[in-house]
Amino acid sequence: MEKVVIIGSGCAGLTAAVYTARANLQPLVLSGTLPGGLLTTTSVVENFPGFPEGVDGFELMQRMQQQAEKFGARVKLATVEAVDLSRSPYTLTVDGETVQTQTIILASGASHRHLGLESEAKLEKKGVTYCATCDGALPVFRNQPLVVVGGGDSACEEALYLTRFASVVYLVHRRDQLRASHIMAERTLAHAKIKPVWDSVVTEILDVKQDKVTAVRLRNVKTDASSELACAGVFIAIGHVPNTELFRGALDLDENGYAVLQRGSATRVPGVFVAGDCADHVYRQAVTAAGMGCAAAIDAERFLATLDQ
Ligand code: NAP
Repeated sequence: MEKVVIIGSGCAGLTAAVYTARANLQPLVLSGTLPGGLLTTTSVVENFPGFPEGVDGFELMQRMQQQAEKFGARVKLATVEAVDLSRSPYTLTVDGETVQTQTIILASGASHRHLGLESEAKLEKKGVTYCATCDGALPVFRNQPLVVVGGGDSACEEALYLTRFASVVYLVHRRDQLRASHIMAERTLAHAKIKPVWDSVVTEILDVKQDKVTAVRLRNVKTDASSELACAGVFIAIGHVPNTELFRGALDLDENGYAVLQRGSATRVPGVFVAGDCADHVYRQAVTAAGMGCAAAIDAERFLATLDQ
């Protein structure tokens, strides 16, 4: 029987692992299909406190894992297939095996929604990115035209952020009105460097043959006209999908699938705590996820202490 099982090995999960391991709870961390989480897909992380020279996202996560393991965490490359929270101890089916645990910290993160284009997948990290704060300042994007896809708050935030580096930011949206909040939309459209491209969808990102981004091919959804827009980078901000599907019905999820928290990191199921992007659609930063992981670890530790009384 496990005391703590942590589902997810991103910033939230591994910070929870450091804390619960240091509390001598020997947490079992189930890494999921992307060990280290979304941060491993970015290049240099420049906004994680303590790294004035920046740190490679993959390296940061490796170091967090080493730190957790040093204190006794066990990190297993494994995927949770089913959960039963109907009675304590809780039961997880992990790669066909049954794991029983007194507490769970759900830190399964969220995935970037993708356009679903073949060229998008081929040029990911070669000019196609899902995070302006992570990648916007890279030399390849400096003083270049950039494209942001999306019309929500994230797309506006990405576009505004990129104005610091780009020569011009094209905001490509599939309708003629932004979904973003009024204030964000107003600020975005008022910016001299941001040029909206309305009623348009990206049908292809060029140029796979050159192994870098040189342009996007667009289709106007009203006129069906096709066009090309030269750019050095494509920032896709069409929303996130929280990785909570497995917990539908077992935990409270909001209409977008994000876990709903009660008091700190607690859920309506005693002993089940949540941290990071699977519960947070507002901040979504490595450092906020780490903070939530710390909080969930402390909550789990206190919960376990009440069982011992
Ligand atoms: P969102 O509000 O769901 O917006 C996603 C945008 O992407 C929409 O404009 C949508 O178009 C577009 N889109 C979705 N799928 C697409 C596709 N396949 N192809 C092209 N376009 C597509 O997501 P978000 O912007 O990430 O925001 C998520 C939540 O976080 C929201 O509640 C938001 O308010 C919040 N948030 C807040 C802030 C802030 O307050 N500063 C910052 C970021 C996020 P349609 O409009 O046509 O549906």
